[in-house]
Amino acid sequence: MTGQPDDSAAMIGARLRELRQRISEIARRAGRDPSEVRLVAVSKTHPPETIEAAIAGGQSDFGENTVQEALPKIERLASRPLSWHFVGHLQSNKARFIPGKFAWLHSLDSLALAQRLARLTAEKHAPLDALIEINITRDPRKHGVAPEALPALLDDLQPLAGPQLRLRGLMTIGPYPASEGDSRAAFAALRKLRDDCQRRAGWRDFTELSMGMSGDFAEAIMEGSTVLRIGSAIFGERSYAKKS
Ligand SMILES: *Cc1c(COP(=O)(O)O)cnc(C)c1O
Repeated sequence: MTGQPDDSAAMIGARLRELRQRISEIARRAGRDPSEVRLVAVSKTHPPETIEAAIAGGQSDFGENTVQEALPKIERLASRPLSWHFVGHLQSNKARFIPGKFAWLHSLDSLALAQRLARLTAEKHAPLDALIEINITRDPRKHGVAPEALPALLDDLQPLAGPQLRLRGLMTIGPYPASEGDSRAAFAALRKLRDDCQRRAGWRDFTELSMGMSGDFAEAIMEGSTVLRIGSAIFGERSYAKKS
């Protein structure tokens, strides 16, 4: 997977610079402060050497979607001041791998998982910022909580939220394929849902919207994204077939 010219360290640095510039421009055009938009580089399928290239390019937030792939990379890069984001689906029986390793979980989707995480974060004194994943388009192929199920889940989560398990906002994967209008409608719906949650639960720190990937980050920024999860626009296309 390494050694291809388009994956060289210099290329990754250049892509990151260009991407940050585009993010800033789009944010400003939308009347937003670019510093409100965090960039998470989704490094799944890419080796630590490739992540090093992004670190050299000033990147410090990285996203992974499986525990087994992420843990060795986190270990290898443990001396670096990085924030790791778990963005994939998480089975409750793997919850123990998250606190202490990851700073953020983007895919909280059940009370059972939240209960485990509340216990583990307290035991390990390892706080976790968690986002509730929403299946905003009700796509049967996708994980996440249906929008109409969210109010009841919030009520159940209320006693679990605290300084260890910090409920910070919502995450969604935008529709694909989708027109610009489809994407914006889905992201606007997530923003509205976050505002409803803020009111209902009264959580002051429930401010985050993790939405926007390589193909739809412009629409996401226009609709209020505070966390972009971007992989291929930084690292190039993923080649799962060549995974070692
Ligand atoms: C892979 C992945 C991304 C990044 O996707 P790109 O299209 O490569 O930017 C973002 N979010 C999640 C949940 C992912 O699994």
